[in-house]
Amino acid sequence: MTADLHVHVHLSPSIPTAVTDLPPDLDVRVWSPIATTLLGGEREAVVVDPPLTVAQSASVVERVLAWGRELTTIYVTHAHGDHWFGAAALLEHFPAARVVALPAVAEAARRQSPEDIAAFWEPRFPGGQIPTTLTPPEPLDGEEFDLEGHELVAVPLGHTDTDHTSALHVPSLGLVVAGDAVYDDVHLYLAESDGGGRRAWRDALDVVGTLHPTTVVAGHQRPGSTGNPTAIDATRRYLDDVEDLLPRTSSALGFYRAMRARHPDRVNPGALWGSARAAFPAEVTA
Ligand SMILES: [Zn+2]
Repeated sequence: MTADLHVHVHLSPSIPTAVTDLPPDLDVRVWSPIATTLLGGEREAVVVDPPLTVAQSASVVERVLAWGRELTTIYVTHAHGDHWFGAAALLEHFPAARVVALPAVAEAARRQSPEDIAAFWEPRFPGGQIPTTLTPPEPLDGEEFDLEGHELVAVPLGHTDTDHTSALHVPSLGLVVAGDAVYDDVHLYLAESDGGGRRAWRDALDVVGTLHPTTVVAGHQRPGSTGNPTAIDATRRYLDDVEDLLPRTSSALGFYRAMRARHPDRVNPGALWGSARAAFPAEVTA
């Protein structure tokens, strides 16, 4: 008889960034809340998507230690640093744990050079917020691993908010840890999704839907989210709105305002501003 698994979603709240490019209605750009999922059996634990900064990672370490289980595996859904830079902090306490991802994800994480990290993450989070020791994931052998008799399945999703993304499916719980394929009431990061990316993202949402989850952990979610799978359709509708509004707007600000009118309450409109800027790159250099 296999004991039930326990699930705990640890949300790292929004934190300010040093980005100074702002739309007229905001005075700070923040990073969206980041979800880290803890899966626990009786003795062992798996962590999915450790967060970004030193302080966020310390909170996750504290939570995992308080759980009283041995961390065996850290699974990384995709290569963005806000979903794996904190792995090394966990390994300090659980040196026998392995950090794994699908091979394409592991490869994309390893390709990030210290120069890339210095150019992207450090200006946004200055003053030593980004960990200096990084442990990128190793390629997972196959697409499944085990937590005390429960099968955990890595599901390749292709492009969502970046290339080579995945979800972790826990069939015994009806749970999908969706990484950034699903956003729950948070503005999407779209800067990598032009040129067919949004179509690929919709296809990925279809794949998540075919797993018929009863709970979906979105990589970025509003505090208090209950993991309702309706976030899958809401993410699709957001992408539909982008498709509808992009051809009908002619500036970053026009697009931003039109999207905000349709999604007035989503968390982190600054992320939408980043997407709007990426959609109208000529304005940025003008
Ligand atoms: Zn993310």
